[in-house]
Amino acid sequence: MDRRTLLKLLSATALVGCAPSQTENPLTVVVAGAGIVGASIAYHLAKAGARVTVIDRVGPATHASRGTFAWINATYAKQPRSYHQFAQHSISNWHDLQGELSLPVRWGGSLEWFGGAERTAKLVDQIAEQADWGEDARMVGAADLANMEPGVDFGGAAQVAFSGNDGAVDPVAATKAMLAAAQKMGAVVKAPCELTGTVLKAGRLVSVETSMGPIKADRLVLATGADPVAAEKFADTDLPQRTTPGIIAVSKPMPLVLNSIIAAPGAHLHQRLDGRMVVGEQQGAPAGDAHAERLAGRPNDYPERWIAEDHAARMFAVAEEFVPAMADAVVEDVYIGWRPLPLDGHPVIGAAPNRPDVYLAVMHSGVTLAPVVGQLASHELLSGEAAPSLAEYRPGREFELIKRY
Ligand SMILES: Cc1cc2nc3c(=O)[nH]c(=O)nc-3n(C[C@H](O)[C@H](O)[C@H](O)COP(=O)(O)OP(=O)(O)OC[C@H]3O[C@@H](n4cnc5c(N)ncnc54)[C@H](O)[C@@H]3O)c2cc1C
Repeated sequence: MDRRTLLKLLSATALVGCAPSQTENPLTVVVAGAGIVGASIAYHLAKAGARVTVIDRVGPATHASRGTFAWINATYAKQPRSYHQFAQHSISNWHDLQGELSLPVRWGGSLEWFGGAERTAKLVDQIAEQADWGEDARMVGAADLANMEPGVDFGGAAQVAFSGNDGAVDPVAATKAMLAAAQKMGAVVKAPCELTGTVLKAGRLVSVETSMGPIKADRLVLATGADPVAAEKFADTDLPQRTTPGIIAVSKPMPLVLNSIIAAPGAHLHQRLDGRMVVGEQQGAPAGDAHAERLAGRPNDYPERWIAEDHAARMFAVAEEFVPAMADAVVEDVYIGWRPLPLDGHPVIGAAPNRPDVYLAVMHSGVTLAPVVGQLASHELLSGEAAPSLAEYRPGREFELIKRY
């Protein structure tokens, strides 16, 4: 039995019973947040027959789901093994979604290496664990690398980790495609439309208040990303979370030179199907009052275009050390993304402990996880049955600070 079939069987076992028919008395669900997570939940809900309204304060894929590196991965960094399997399940679902909606996902695996001997030795162990777990992961030497990625200068790295299941997606296009498909099945998308309150009767949700007026709702999904107040305000839930910024620079389309995702010391990059290079910066913002002040308001854009272009040019110059073709790259978009980071680095998925009609879906690695979260969250919302594979990610758990990203 191949891996994808096994994952499907496991997921079917986890979801004992099917969602009840939504044709006669469909559940009315408002999804707040039209990033990739909200879009996937909305798509899966609409597909199962729910009456869905998606609202976003700004618009689809305008926050983390735009300023993301969008690496679909389940490599050694996804720990423990249950979380790794959860991410692999999502990779399998990405293949299904790609087929259903013709999404711009590019598969080809990832190649990752580090500078020092100590970190490289650790990487070798981490990849050995992946191989033990049955993944398509191995260390690759110089001769193979030259065939796999002739356009990359590995700088003499003797050992590079290859993770064969990984891919990358254009996250804005994928988010919009999922929303458009949901709309074709009857969902409504409203933006800019801000969630401002909830209305309860006898303890149950009856509607939500928004900047565009009230909307009837049996359930509310908070797919509000790094928003610091949504969980407390609308779900009466203390969601311990932090956020860190990351810069993503995208080039104009160029001839295809990369086959896989390149995670090199100092730069991450991949090339989309349309030829655009996506470069992510590795080090965080420099220390200093000026930066701290500028970042305090969590901006998504630079104060001026020339500053953004300067920053992107520096990032492209680092990437050029590994991919010489980057010398011809022309900056198209530069974006400051803010990671939604529940304190322990794992997703928060499930009904709020004190508000059973409000469902939280807040996470990092939301690009990787969007398909599986959409599938399982819509199942839980419509059937009322708990999906066993979400048990570790409930909002009511104890949170311990673990800096995974
Ligand atoms: C620099 C960077 C690199 C990353 N790299 C990767 C990667 O390689 N792979 C990976 O899997 N993940 C990666 N991530 C994480 C991933 O991008 C996020 O986990 C994912 O995009 C989260 O999607 P989301 O839909 O939950 O949130 P978002 O895309 O942030 O969407 C939340 C939406 O909620 C809306 N909203 C908030 N409050 C309200 C309200 N009151 N009313 C209405 N709307 C509201 C906002 O306007 C926003 O559009 C990265 C993130 C960053 C920042």
